[in-house]
Amino acid sequence: MKVNSKAYIIHLGNVERDVLLFLSKELYEIFGIEFKISSSLNIPKSSYNSEREQYYSSPLLSYLKRTAGRGSGLILGVIDKDLYVPQLNFVFGEAELNGEAAIISLTRLSQEFYGLLGNENIFYQRAIKEAVHEIGHVFGLHHCSNPKCVMFFSNSLSDTDIKRKRFCKNCSKKLLIK
Ligand SMILES: [Zn+2]
Ligand SMILES: [Zn+2]
Repeated sequence: MKVNSKAYIIHLGNVERDVLLFLSKELYEIFGIEFKISSSLNIPKSSYNSEREQYYSSPLLSYLKRTAGRGSGLILGVIDKDLYVPQLNFVFGEAELNGEAAIISLTRLSQEFYGLLGNENIFYQRAIKEAVHEIGHVFGLHHCSNPKCVMFFSNSLSDTDIKRKRFCKNCSKKLLIK
């Protein structure tokens, strides 16, 4: 793992600061890396698809990297807008495999999105699991077949709720080799 690397959480548009602080604290516990919370960036209008009423995540990843500048280290983008890639209805996040940047969307992680009563704890747990999962990809990890492992692919939120926020033994080993 790149333990000495610089790392930043960059939020695009409005995101509650408490969530960012929570993510930063939890990411430190899991990766031993301090993620500094940067000032927010505007969401580029060009990433919005008015037909789908969603934002295309891949150009947002490039935008995050471009704006942060070369050699700025690890970047976790956080956005509260619904993301998509052309092949899928939506994505919870996207990452560069073995790269530098990842992005997660908070929009579909809240109970309210599904017309349910809000639950902050559930929302926060989902957010950290998605963040750890995408950062796992940045560190070169692929999806894991262990449903409890954070690298398990979440087809739906029930998958996210079942898995833990940590890596299984196999995935941890792969991380340590890096
Ligand atoms: Zn994944
Ligand atoms: Zn695993």
